[in-house]
Amino acid sequence: MKASRIVAIRATPVTVPLEAPLLHSNGAHWGRFVRTLVEVETDDGLVGLGEFGGGGESATAAVEGLIGYLKGHDPFRLEAMRFAICNPTASLYNNRTQIHAALEFACLDIMGQKLGVSVSELLGGRIRDEIPFASYLFFRYGDADGRHEVRTPEQLAAQARVLKASHGFTSHKLKGGVYPPRHELECYRALADAVGGDRLRYDPNSALSLGDAIEFGRAIEGLNNDYYEDPVWGMPQLSRLREFVRIPTATNTVVINFEQLAANVAQRAVDVILLDTTFWGGIRPCIKAAGICETFGLGVAVHSSGELGVQLATMLHMGAVVPNLSYAADAHYHHLLDDVIVGGPMRYRDGAIAVPEGPGLGVRLDRDKVRRYHELFLELGGYAYDRDPGRPGWYPLVPNARWADPAQRLVPDLGVKR
Ligand SMILES: [Mg+2]
Repeated sequence: MKASRIVAIRATPVTVPLEAPLLHSNGAHWGRFVRTLVEVETDDGLVGLGEFGGGGESATAAVEGLIGYLKGHDPFRLEAMRFAICNPTASLYNNRTQIHAALEFACLDIMGQKLGVSVSELLGGRIRDEIPFASYLFFRYGDADGRHEVRTPEQLAAQARVLKASHGFTSHKLKGGVYPPRHELECYRALADAVGGDRLRYDPNSALSLGDAIEFGRAIEGLNNDYYEDPVWGMPQLSRLREFVRIPTATNTVVINFEQLAANVAQRAVDVILLDTTFWGGIRPCIKAAGICETFGLGVAVHSSGELGVQLATMLHMGAVVPNLSYAADAHYHHLLDDVIVGGPMRYRDGAIAVPEGPGLGVRLDRDKVRRYHELFLELGGYAYDRDPGRPGWYPLVPNARWADPAQRLVPDLGVKR
């Protein structure tokens, strides 16, 4: 078989609306996700797809500028590409991990298309054909009529019931770190009541002090917790927390590369590693990390960074081949109002999404949708992920004490008609 050669790399920022703005410990997603779609084209007419978070002129330039490194490169030579653009000793100056991930997705997509097999078949073969997901619950701003707001325990319980009924989730995650921990504790208990014996997980994005995290953790020990995700910042504090709270710890923030994984093996701070195909630099590094987790008895779960269908496909193929994936994956996907892939958004059935069947990643871009959501990006621009539109001038400390007021119903001006 004649080798393919890369001839072009394109990046297209798109903005896809969310049902409502989502709050987190650093700020908010302002009612939309901004993503960059990457297309890698070969001399034999194949186009591979990639995706990463954020977008704008500098992101587009950073991706498309790599054509100087990759023109003529054979997309099958993935390890060579890693060193060509991601040499670890040069990464202090050129951290291209996330861009490399998008290019790796695209090259795997090309390989699969050329060989007529799916990426999961290419990467070890499927153990499962569908991946279970957790409902991902957020505190949310509502509109002027109060629709979509999630601020109180009652609103959270209602939202959980809606998501469970419409998608069939049996595992539920609360993204916290927004309101005072005792308010969030009330909310978490209301969530547990609302979903019966389903599994639960709480993730305040490292906002809690060790004291608050111990109090919260001990209070929820009797619930059906999968794990306690990033309650405090950093491995030393997580390690200390484990002495007080009998719930496995999890992270997607402080073990996101092999050096950190080695440190966590040497001194256990985290029991469950949330793998993210972008943060780790591709699908293959995640599979490699999962193997190390298997060896050292660490749990594996899947992190969501607010992806559209292209990156979601990478998570599905990764989940399909990792034997020790023993938790429902995370996805923000059900908060999105649309997607850019042919056939519209993928669907949950009984809380799971089927691994795409076609060759490569098994998803293609809907050109009309890409055009429409690129125009929306041009119209609205980016948003400040680490700012809360409801609290101008606010920023959090770590650990935080500057909580939002749960008694106050805010309707921030997002400068967008919703
Ligand atoms: Mg997290």
